[in-house]
Amino acid sequence: MSTRSERDKGKSFQEKHQAILSALLKDEDNKYCVDCDAKGPRWASWNLGIFLCIRCAGIHRNLGVHISKVKSVNLDSWTPEQIAMMQEMGNSRARAVYEANLQDGFRRPQTDSGLEAFIRAKYEQKKYIAKEWVPPQPRVPRYTEDDP
Ligand code: ZN
Repeated sequence: MSTRSERDKGKSFQEKHQAILSALLKDEDNKYCVDCDAKGPRWASWNLGIFLCIRCAGIHRNLGVHISKVKSVNLDSWTPEQIAMMQEMGNSRARAVYEANLQDGFRRPQTDSGLEAFIRAKYEQKKYIAKEWVPPQPRVPRYTEDDP
């Protein structure tokens, strides 16, 4: 059972989350797809904390949710945990981690098959990952009581 005020509260959480995501996307770090550099990403993998273009989001979905949990920035609703992870990571930090051992002058593949191979190497085989990397446990703000 949900009262009107509970529904309004749920809605305002979503509005708040959308505002945070919009602000993150305006950040210079997040203006380009983390994997292929396409402009204006509108998708995200929240467990990895990265913003993606629609093409790379499709490839991430194929990896399975044990590797990458994909959401639309605008069309899906977000939980505080998911938002906190995006704030904690973002594309610059994610590149520093997942591309730590990528060779200098690496050219991002632009074909679908090349991109898929790159994305699998990067997140599935963790071929380029920083050795000392420990995934963050972001502190979640205390407004979670209405979470689904
Ligand atoms: Zn992309």
